[in-house]
Amino acid sequence: MITAATSQSTSSIQPSSAGREVLLEIRGLAVHFETRRGVAKAVNDVDLSLYKGERFGLVGESGSGKSTLILSLLNMIKPPGRIVHGSAKLNRRELTNLDGEEVRQLRLSEIAMIPQGAMNSMNPVMRIGDQLELAMAEHGGGEHSVRELMEMVGLSEATERLYPHELSGGMKQRACIAQAISLSPKLILADEPTSALDVVVQRQIMQTLKNLQNRLHATVLLVGHDMGLMAQFAERVGIMYGGELVEVGEVDKIFVEPKHPYTRLLIDSISSFETKGDFRGIPGNAMSLLNPPSGCHFHPRCPNKMDKCQERPPTLKEIAPDHTASCLLYEEGENS
Ligand code: SF4
Repeated sequence: MITAATSQSTSSIQPSSAGREVLLEIRGLAVHFETRRGVAKAVNDVDLSLYKGERFGLVGESGSGKSTLILSLLNMIKPPGRIVHGSAKLNRRELTNLDGEEVRQLRLSEIAMIPQGAMNSMNPVMRIGDQLELAMAEHGGGEHSVRELMEMVGLSEATERLYPHELSGGMKQRACIAQAISLSPKLILADEPTSALDVVVQRQIMQTLKNLQNRLHATVLLVGHDMGLMAQFAERVGIMYGGELVEVGEVDKIFVEPKHPYTRLLIDSISSFETKGDFRGIPGNAMSLLNPPSGCHFHPRCPNKMDKCQERPPTLKEIAPDHTASCLLYEEGENS
């Protein structure tokens, strides 16, 4: 079943990785939380490359590790969490061992974050324009004036003089985007930036972000759980389950022919006119990070599971050009 949103997105041919320049390279990254009840492997040996100027969507249920992954890129993991191994390089510069001052310098100028709660990320006692001015001044100034930034995100000149509490949810999120792009960062991390907004405003904000990404030629890593939104926004998507990437590929290919059973269920769970109001969920509960199932972590919920799935974990393998999946169905001799 392909929804209207999906059909729309599948009409264009997405660029392949051939000849594209890598901006962010994550290798074997692992973030663990050491608790009294045991170690929760929130991000478990993730490998991922993002290209310059692409829109990448990271999708998964709550607790799949997608937000933890992007927080680790800015050294924002708080104890008892910590990066236990692996690397993340932005233009070949290691991010995982930066100190507080280095991260502060990197913020906005190289990497910007658009958070979930726009309200919480703004100073409540400073006018919007002053906040943008200050953020740019702290980093030696930006390429755009405050007025230009306002215009770029679709806010009126008068908004500069308002305080955050005077803005609607959509306006606050636009102000956050203005701050994020104020120093023309190479990488924009967006953590469910529209989750608190109604669906019409959500689509408008995502369109603004898409236009800005094109204009600035930045790479956007969008984290979310809404597959429909991802289909409209992203060029490539990565699906996370239980702290691991289970499928990565071009959005058109993944929506037309998902390889991993979890991806297929996520796509099928998108409501459409065809389902006439029926909600199709994914059976079972999200896995416990403290006590993960043996073998393939998805096996207790998988409609395609085989005996071997409980015995050994699959690994992420290329199963078609620019399309990887982690499932024993695609490992030679495993589905016989
Ligand atoms: Fe399902 Fe087995 Fe593939 Fe895991 S390895 S997703 S249980 S078929």
